[in-house]
Amino acid sequence: MMKIPRPISGGLMLSYKCQAECRHCMYACSPKWAGDWITVDQLEQFLPQLAKVIEPSPHGHQYMSLNHGLHFTGGEPFLNFKLLLKAVQIAETLNIPSTFVETNCFWCKIDTLTKERLQILKDNGLKGIMISVNPFYAEYVPFERTDRCVRLSQDVFGQNVMVYQLEYYHLFKKLGITGRLSIDKYLKLTREESISNRVEFFLMGRAAERLKELYPGYPAKRFFNTPCQPDFLRSWHNHFDNYGNFIPGYCGGISLGSWFDLDGLLKAGIDLKNRPVLNYLVKKDMQGLFKFALDSGYHELNEGYVSKCHLCLDVRKYLVSIGDYVELQPRESYEQLK
Ligand code: SF4
Ligand code: SF4
Repeated sequence: MMKIPRPISGGLMLSYKCQAECRHCMYACSPKWAGDWITVDQLEQFLPQLAKVIEPSPHGHQYMSLNHGLHFTGGEPFLNFKLLLKAVQIAETLNIPSTFVETNCFWCKIDTLTKERLQILKDNGLKGIMISVNPFYAEYVPFERTDRCVRLSQDVFGQNVMVYQLEYYHLFKKLGITGRLSIDKYLKLTREESISNRVEFFLMGRAAERLKELYPGYPAKRFFNTPCQPDFLRSWHNHFDNYGNFIPGYCGGISLGSWFDLDGLLKAGIDLKNRPVLNYLVKKDMQGLFKFALDSGYHELNEGYVSKCHLCLDVRKYLVSIGDYVELQPRESYEQLK
């Protein structure tokens, strides 16, 4: 059995359903997902366990910060505003600190409705909001909606507004973007060759599948000794999905176990004997995982891999296609990569 770090912060994924299908989505969210939302019963039953471990922002309980507190996410949580509101209310009753919601702003069509919803969430205990901005979101969300959300969120939440990533927000304002923006148009406008040279960007999840043509590929062995960045097992910014999966960090499609029984999972740890993929990942043995896959019939990609996460994902995708691995959940996240 292997103990896992006690999570002090993270994202509660209400569902994997999203109106967008961004090329860089770590969790392969899309409109095509079954749309299994977490239920109010599950929130009432299981959030108390998270309430015991989540720690506030260093600035205090009432403030937000990216790697503290609990955020409500998805998919796109505003697709189910009623449920989002209920989750906020339950979290507030449990006194969970530094709560915020993450959104792509698709719903911010007019000022009145946008402000009303933000105010309702704040009045029910939500501390802040994180607004997603980059060229991938801009393919799906007209920029004026993003801009509206930023402006009105500042009115409602004051300094508890995080624009991720602010550099793109300023760039889009400077470029005078209106409506949606295709990646091709973005690259032409900025005369950039790729998206990733401005800010933090992870070639993992759907990005590893959909954007691989834009990056050079390398043989698998190049990634055998490179560390996972950030750490695979860590206490901060993990994710808890609507099926009960405790997802390490941003590693969509991997489950450490059920957060619905977080107390038990933290106490007992993970049984690695029956979880070969997790066993290799925990031991930082990418070479071992690759060999395990080869022995199971996997073939190395001729075109190579653009990142360690691409290698990891491609191997896992193959293993999911040939067998049942309890640590590779939800299975649908592998089907929704394309
Ligand atoms: S990155 Fe966000 S907005 Fe884009 S598909 Fe994923 S959940 Fe939806
Ligand atoms: S290599 Fe795999 S386990 Fe490591 S960060 Fe990437 S997706 Fe996660």
